[in-house]
Amino acid sequence: MQRKALIAGNWKMHTTLVDGCALATGVAKSFDGKDDREVLIAPPFTIVSEVSHVIKDSGVIIGGQNVCWETSGAFTGEISPTMLHDAGATAAIIGHSERRQIFGENDEMINKRVRGAIKFKLLAVLCVGETLEERESGNTFSVLETQVRKGLDQVTAEEMKQVVIAYEPVWAIGTGKTASKEQAQETHAFIRGLIENLFEKGVAEELRILYGGSVKPVNIDELMAQPDIDGALVGGAALDVESFGRIINFK
Ligand code: PEP
Repeated sequence: MQRKALIAGNWKMHTTLVDGCALATGVAKSFDGKDDREVLIAPPFTIVSEVSHVIKDSGVIIGGQNVCWETSGAFTGEISPTMLHDAGATAAIIGHSERRQIFGENDEMINKRVRGAIKFKLLAVLCVGETLEERESGNTFSVLETQVRKGLDQVTAEEMKQVVIAYEPVWAIGTGKTASKEQAQETHAFIRGLIENLFEKGVAEELRILYGGSVKPVNIDELMAQPDIDGALVGGAALDVESFGRIINFK
């Protein structure tokens, strides 16, 4: 089945107004607009609104790097789905390993975020991935199964149209170590099989599964050639117009 590719750039805690808008302008100019793919950028919350103006009409979409499940209230430090919409975003990254590891977000909280995003019509990019220790002890699939099951708890087959899963092995994020194309394909196929068990074949076939972890211009083409890799979640290389430009225009 032909799934539309999605290349997402996670800017993390980088860029201020001027350099963020310049980066977004560069990305928009680099995107050749092929209709077999979508491009998403996730800047810091402070510049989502300005960046959304910069990329208007370019075909690039914009997302938050996290999202709360409530629309407003006493949630200091959080951003709501309606606030993201208000600023021009249509997607949110949820459960990134930096949120899990540095800020202690657990699967239950991540599930609330996923359901909040879905409820308010944002595309939920649910990140999952094992640590090096978990991989080396042979627990990759059980860790992923738990993160996927819990992250998607109470999500319906119909709602899965608003979900993308990003497989990001923690040991490959920002380290320069990429999972080999075989390792990534094997894991993506496992996740797709799991989704088929949890929902149904059609949901699994339609689901886009992104690979993340040191994606660069040199490895994007071979990763994208794998049958179960439908895109990439890119950190470091998303901050450089030339690199990200090459990645979004993968062959
Ligand atoms: C990420 O931030 O999700 C990521 C994959 O980072 P990097 O591409 O730098 O490894």
